[in-house]
Amino acid sequence: MSIDRSGEYWTGTGAGDLDEYLRELTADGYPADRIVHARCGCGHDRFELLVDANEGCAQRACSSCGRKHFICDSEEYWSDADPEETACPCGGTAFEIAVGFSHRADASVKWITVGQRCTKCGVLGAAVDWKVDYGPTEQLYDQV
Ligand SMILES: [Zn+2]
Ligand SMILES: [Zn+2]
Repeated sequence: MSIDRSGEYWTGTGAGDLDEYLRELTADGYPADRIVHARCGCGHDRFELLVDANEGCAQRACSSCGRKHFICDSEEYWSDADPEETACPCGGTAFEIAVGFSHRADASVKWITVGQRCTKCGVLGAAVDWKVDYGPTEQLYDQV
């Protein structure tokens, strides 16, 4: 695993690079101090990713079995959303996905950032992020 910062886009060689990427990306805003990787119930870890960056919600669809899953609390906002499929600059639409969580002083989740790595070319990105304004929030870690 390593991040290549030399090109127009940062690229990673493996899903593990999403940890470092999300930490650096959020460092100046709401620093993510817990990273959870998405994995389908079938065991697969590559997904298509639908997001509404304005509404702040995301859904992933497994590239292997097709199962769809709302990332964290996204289902609550989905009916108002206008989701678009995330595409890499290379045109790829299969990603490894991880969520970075930043927390309040009381350890509840304050901010969610969804990061993705293109499995075709390795480009790293963060398609959507949103605020969490309720509690408790422990369940969110299991809903990535
Ligand atoms: Zn699956
Ligand atoms: Zn790509």
